[in-house]
Amino acid sequence: MNLLDVNGISVNYGDIQALWNISFSVAKGQLVALIGANGAGKTTTLKSLCGLIPTASGTIHYDGKLVTGMPVHKVVDLGITLVPEGRQLFPKMTVEENLLVGAYLKRAHGKRAQTLKRIYEIFPRLEERRTQTAETLSGGEQQMVAIGRALMQDPQVIMFDEPSLGLAPIMVQEVFKVIQELHKQGLTIFLVEQNVHQTLKVADYCYVMENGRIVGQGTGKDLEADESIREAYLGF
Ligand code: ATP
Repeated sequence: MNLLDVNGISVNYGDIQALWNISFSVAKGQLVALIGANGAGKTTTLKSLCGLIPTASGTIHYDGKLVTGMPVHKVVDLGITLVPEGRQLFPKMTVEENLLVGAYLKRAHGKRAQTLKRIYEIFPRLEERRTQTAETLSGGEQQMVAIGRALMQDPQVIMFDEPSLGLAPIMVQEVFKVIQELHKQGLTIFLVEQNVHQTLKVADYCYVMENGRIVGQGTGKDLEADESIREAYLGF
């Protein structure tokens, strides 16, 4: 069963059309990725899925419900969560305060103590640093807080916008490990990444975007074997 069904959406920024008739779907429990060069329209796709920017045409269904045009808080309360690019933490707040921000909506509020415990089990390092301000953490630790904050929202679908961007190689591995672990635990994942090599290894299915259009799709294995993908994104 598809949890997310995106059908023919287009998005404009003023006179500029950023998305052209985009369609894709994400089945429950799958890890689906979207790859593409800078400016291809990946972030725009994520923002339109969460109601952060309006679509000019097309529909987005989540769990059978039409979510096109819904305000962000309603989308989040349905169980869709975004880990934004650049993490966007509150720098002067502690790790734990940043995490608790994630549980402000009805859906997650009642379970917050239990969810926090679970997050500290996934990220013991964050428990050690729970009283430290976010600005004093390393980039990799900040990414873990951003993921933890998204999990505090008790999502069914978690969407990542370039979670490995700007991280040291060892932290990139760590982030991919966490994403795979969440996938194993049954979360549905929509992953936007520029680290194509790693992404094709973990994704059940992958879409390729260029100039605001979906230009290719297939399993990670299929795309890894595709000559044009190898040339454009893998450099060999
Ligand atoms: P990146 O990997 O660099 O973040 P992306 O694939 O996420 O790229 P988007 O950020 O979605 O790409 O941008 C898609 C297109 O829309 C680009 O041409 C970009 O310049 C344009 N765009 C994005 N945001 C705006 C905006 N707020 N106003 C005008 N144009 C925008």
